[in-house]
Amino acid sequence: MKQMKTIAAALAVCGAAGAAMAFLYGDTPDARHAWAVHDRNRPNPVKVSATPQFAKAPSDAVVLFDGTPETFANWTDTKGNPTKWKLVNGTLESVRGAGYIMTKQKFGDCQLHLEWAAPSRVEGFGQGRGNSGVFLMGNYEIQVLDSFETDPSKNPNPNPNYADGQASAVYAENPPLVNASLGPGEWQSYDIVFHQPVWQGNKMVYPGSVTVFHNGVLTQDHWEMEGLTTHCRRRPLAPHDTKLPLQLQDHGNPVHFRNIWIREIPSRYANTTHGGPAATEKDVMALRQKTAAELFAKVDFNNRMNAIRGILEVASYDMNPKYQQKLPELQNAFLADFNKLTKEQADKRKWEVFTLRGDLDVLIRNGVFPKDNAFRAELEKIIAKYQLKK
Ligand code: MG
Repeated sequence: MKQMKTIAAALAVCGAAGAAMAFLYGDTPDARHAWAVHDRNRPNPVKVSATPQFAKAPSDAVVLFDGTPETFANWTDTKGNPTKWKLVNGTLESVRGAGYIMTKQKFGDCQLHLEWAAPSRVEGFGQGRGNSGVFLMGNYEIQVLDSFETDPSKNPNPNPNYADGQASAVYAENPPLVNASLGPGEWQSYDIVFHQPVWQGNKMVYPGSVTVFHNGVLTQDHWEMEGLTTHCRRRPLAPHDTKLPLQLQDHGNPVHFRNIWIREIPSRYANTTHGGPAATEKDVMALRQKTAAELFAKVDFNNRMNAIRGILEVASYDMNPKYQQKLPELQNAFLADFNKLTKEQADKRKWEVFTLRGDLDVLIRNGVFPKDNAFRAELEKIIAKYQLKK
């Protein structure tokens, strides 16, 4: 609610200026920003053709709305009470004055798919035409607006607007790269990849990011958030809970939504499993050691070739000598056995030599083993002795 009040207050200050605006409006350009917030001098994104992507929810998605009363019940108003938004012909319709809606379930980093349509009956102007919004974690708005035609010289019904407030904008921060909007009443798709900012106490260590495909077209390319969404102002980022409801905005226009699903995804920050900008060596090494132990437990010592290869693989995760205790014995047995072969027998088993040499080369290339590895030198001798060809 604090956020709602903040936005309402900002609207009260900024809104009056908006009606007759043209000149100063939002926060001014600065050393980092060439444009003011909601700068009407900022060029509009170029219009492109686009095809909406009506993607079905994958099996691991949480279906937030699929047109049924059961999924309509996933949403409440921002106080947790039943919403006054309407379920109309399998769509979710925004109702003027009903306020934002939010999911009962809370989410953090996510992949989000949703489909929306601006009202087919064209009315209103600028931010008053087909306005809604996707509020990620209730704090970061991807704008929903009828931005089909923003060139005031075009007809019919152009809707010129400030670039950072058009459909698919990170509202008040970043316009879409291009304008992929479809017309009023047409179903459009958003596919959003969102990572929340990361804080250590009051210190922001990772700004988070948002990537948006609007009707299948990339419109936000890993945009790093600059602030919590508001109007006219550059409002800095601030810590919040790591899971919060997804919200949809009531901005007074009957915008429709359908097919909304979400997949929770791992944080990119400090992610040891998938890599991340701040994964620590300590955590990475712990995971490597765990993997090494699991792999070593599976090594089949009854199969010499597989045992050698298994130990070499384990070494790539963890060089702990305890895993390599049996390696010299296995390697020596391999060499002794191979050196007894006839030329014909050696040719049939040459793949073993080349395979082991290949494994060693991977380890040597990556600095796990030294270049003068003795076993590799012995393999080279065998290759020369039997004149083995790959
Ligand atoms: Mg909006």
